[in-house]
Amino acid sequence: MENKPAALVTGANKGIGLQIAKDLTTHGFTVLVGSRNFENGEIAAKSIGADAHAIQLDVTNQTSIAAAAERIRNEFGRLDVLVNNAAISHVPRPGAPFEEKMAAGRPSVVPIDEVRAVFETNVFGVMAVTQAMLPLLREAPAARIVNVSSEVGSLTMQTDKSNPYYGIQNGAYVPSKTALNAITVAFAKELEGTPIKVNMACPGYTATDLNDFHGTRTVEQGAHEPVRLALLDENGPTGTFSNEDGPLSW
Ligand code: NAP
Repeated sequence: MENKPAALVTGANKGIGLQIAKDLTTHGFTVLVGSRNFENGEIAAKSIGADAHAIQLDVTNQTSIAAAAERIRNEFGRLDVLVNNAAISHVPRPGAPFEEKMAAGRPSVVPIDEVRAVFETNVFGVMAVTQAMLPLLREAPAARIVNVSSEVGSLTMQTDKSNPYYGIQNGAYVPSKTALNAITVAFAKELEGTPIKVNMACPGYTATDLNDFHGTRTVEQGAHEPVRLALLDENGPTGTFSNEDGPLSW
């Protein structure tokens, strides 16, 4: 059993999640690198070092989630930080140009099954993983939950014509992040009065597979706000939505 605090990052085999996992090891955590493909998780964990351990975790699969929770309890004995980072922007469209993928997500044409798949990962997956990990998090002295959201989920920003992302027309990913914001608030309210803090971070437009590397920020920059929220002290807030520059509107 490890005595160091332990953190689980979902979807940590690549992108911003991998960077969050790396950064948390430098802050003294044993990090569980969640990956739906275990081998990819192992490669990622090896790239981080001895404090990182791959764990098979598909956030849409209840059996996988339950097995991960059991393994964390049996092998690590504690969980202090949960970063719900895994997400998809759309179903795979191999070889399709970025513009085509964006157009396919418009509310008028996006297949309902695709909307379901995106919500399954980005919303229901976060709820399912959080529910499964809460018994461990409640046992920790000061657990932190960080949900990686996006400013595109802000209804205020989506309806602000001066916002740079006003032009986005999307019926799956964007509303999934609005729903994620709502469930995060719900968890934060239920857990008020416990030491657990639940907050949301927007990493900013970051170059990753999620956007075919069109993002303008590095993963190092993208990981900054989620990691800050994972490390909040007892005076830190709960139920907030922010990026590196400060609070975001709902
Ligand atoms: P990414 O490079 O595509 O990484 C997404 C991660 O989620 C991958 O590890 C992926 O695993 C994993 N994942 C997808 N479905 C999963 C499932 N069912 N179970 C477990 N893992 C699953 O994207 P990213 O940009 O780093 O995204 C990280 C977070 O930042 C997401 O929540 C995203 O919405 C948010 N975000 C990103 C941006 C941006 O500009 N990049 C902006 C705002 C918010 P596989 O490798 O197996 O596919």
